[in-house]
Amino acid sequence: MNADLHCHSTFSDGLLTPTQLVARAYECGVQMLALTDHDELAGLTEARCAAEGVRMRFIDGVEISVSWGEGSIHIVGLRINPLNLELSEGLERTRTSRDSRAIKMAASLAAAGIPDALEGALRYAGNPALISRAHFARFLVEQGYAREVRSVFEHYLVKGKPGFVPHQWASLAEAIGWILASGGMAVIAHPGSYRMSLPVMRELLGTFRDLGGQGLEVLSGAHSPEQYQEYAKLAREYGLHASRGADYHGPKESRMEFGALPELPPDLTPVWQDW
Ligand code: AMP
Ligand code: MN
Ligand code: MN
Ligand code: MN
Repeated sequence: MNADLHCHSTFSDGLLTPTQLVARAYECGVQMLALTDHDELAGLTEARCAAEGVRMRFIDGVEISVSWGEGSIHIVGLRINPLNLELSEGLERTRTSRDSRAIKMAASLAAAGIPDALEGALRYAGNPALISRAHFARFLVEQGYAREVRSVFEHYLVKGKPGFVPHQWASLAEAIGWILASGGMAVIAHPGSYRMSLPVMRELLGTFRDLGGQGLEVLSGAHSPEQYQEYAKLAREYGLHASRGADYHGPKESRMEFGALPELPPDLTPVWQDW
């Protein structure tokens, strides 16, 4: 099963509309696709329609921004019910909090000599209700501060650099609670990207499981092949189901194309086992 269960459309910080995204995934041989926009469900209906048109299995998803410990992590919700109020209202609060954060980010960039960043970032936001660091990054590339979006994050928008502001996201318990309330499965997104020590990662995995979390993104476009092994081992140890997703954001900006990840190790239980 070529499942790709993590990607972004123009309803968050992806470059393709849900329809274009489904077409791209289909061309790449994906058989089961989840759209997981950041803190937003508004692209799901269009994506599901497009997937039905090409007879591709479609999974309603979301990627929730969470504050945990010193930093932030991402929790993917799969097979969520987009009509569930607990989930949709929680996400709406998260989106609203992004607006004041964006104003502070623009002020921080202005203090570093980069004016008009909020207006600039908004030009790249397909959904004005969801402004992300990726939109600021595109503006900074446009203005010549970096050659590509990925290299923006070496000098801007990260802790200690211009454009970064600390932010209070949902708690881990809230995010998992919203996902479970809507009938979905909670999955830790790209665990290899958090730069946590192994003891801290173990604490996260234990807490996550105790709160009802079930899945770990073992195969991610953000992971190296060594990390595939590392997180496969942790999935076995913590009894977590394994997920697979490119975290595709669009042509040129993504490290990994749709459906290009290897297959999950056969002894792991895929998150889609009982779907
Ligand atoms: P936000 O949710 O506003 O904090 O923005 C996070 C988004 O910025 C991620 O989902 C990525 O799309 C993008 N991003 C963060 N760090 C990097 C990085 N090092 N390289 C490329 N994109 C990044
Ligand atoms: Mn993103
Ligand atoms: Mn993420
Ligand atoms: Mn993502």
